[in-house]
Amino acid sequence: MVIVQKYGGTSVGNAARIRRVCRRIAETVAAGHRVVAVVSAMGDTTDRLIELARRVSEAPPPRELDMLVANGETITAPLVAMCLQDRGVPAISLTGAQAGVRTSGHHSRARIKEIRPIRILNALGRGQVPVVAGFQGATEDFEITTLGRGGSDTTAVALAAALEADLCEIYTDVDGIMTADPRVVPEARLLSHISYEEILELAAVGARVMHPRAVEIGELYGVPIHVRSSFHRRPGTMVVSEVPMEDRKRVRGVAHDLSVAKVTVLGVPDRPGVAAAIFEPLSEAGISVDVIVQNVSSEGRTDLTFTVAEADLGRSLPLVEAAAAEIGAAGTSQAAGLAKVSLVGTGMLGTPGIAARMFRTLAEAGINIEMISTSEIRITCIVDRRRAEEAVRALHAAFELEQVPAGTPV
Ligand code: ASP
Ligand code: MG
Repeated sequence: MVIVQKYGGTSVGNAARIRRVCRRIAETVAAGHRVVAVVSAMGDTTDRLIELARRVSEAPPPRELDMLVANGETITAPLVAMCLQDRGVPAISLTGAQAGVRTSGHHSRARIKEIRPIRILNALGRGQVPVVAGFQGATEDFEITTLGRGGSDTTAVALAAALEADLCEIYTDVDGIMTADPRVVPEARLLSHISYEEILELAAVGARVMHPRAVEIGELYGVPIHVRSSFHRRPGTMVVSEVPMEDRKRVRGVAHDLSVAKVTVLGVPDRPGVAAAIFEPLSEAGISVDVIVQNVSSEGRTDLTFTVAEADLGRSLPLVEAAAAEIGAAGTSQAAGLAKVSLVGTGMLGTPGIAARMFRTLAEAGINIEMISTSEIRITCIVDRRRAEEAVRALHAAFELEQVPAGTPV
């Protein structure tokens, strides 16, 4: 088999951990597989580099920032390659550019246009393990780019797609995808399978899982992805297009995000174009807007409330105030200190009563719901941040997520 193995920052956090990663790569090779390794920057290197840049420059130019932060991964790859060679495993490190990762020119959020894995294929042909620096690529003109925070996952899955690999293993510091954050819910259980759709919804509502763009590529090209721990050998979670039958009927997980703020535009005139006038400036500023609720209008006016990440609130307000004045709204108000609590599961499609049970559970715990939004496979409630973890525990218990569904392969 051809297996792409991606090792995250914690897994390669120091020399001892790099040696452990190399032991695992060597075992996979010894079992007769051809391995392509993709590595992240060691530990919190990326954060430290960004911090350093901010100390010498007010607003680091995106191009220079990419030239800087790409180095995190560029350091890990040769360390892994030399450690492998030391163990008698032929290996060669490659930067993103050398590996053929061609991207758009959008610094700090470049998109992969294509991968020409000539050097990877040559290395595999020579019996070497290519060790590729994740997160980075280059434009046609060899400008160095990065793919956005957490982007090594995207490198790995895109490479697996380009190489038509049999498997993409994402090695991380958690056991796999859990029914909830185990730091909040001690009974949280590891899911043996999850669908691409479910993992995308979980990532979108704050679960600490794979990079969403990696999942999208995985789904598009049908790459089998195994999210697992690099600290032990037990299997983690397989990301697949269809979860086993018994798992399909239910809620799969509860996710939460503790840094939510809301903005309300009051007395918005009820006519075409007002929502666009409010949201376009936000989108141009790269601020993503989440749950949006518009009330039924009375006397030609309505209130419009939406949430943003708390970190984006400061930047959002002047934009929203300007738009509100322009469209003749009555005013704006804001509140921070909120959280998002979401239930996710493809089983929600066609299972009535899940929303009602969610609201009942929160009511019984005395937790007020400020806003609600749904997708086909997700229900999200915005609640007071101070009650959020309690809400997660109550929902995990109410939907019996700690129990392994009968007939599920564990
Ligand atoms: N080192 C980059 C980051 O911390 C990319 C990654 O780890 O996937 O965001
Ligand atoms: Mg990282």
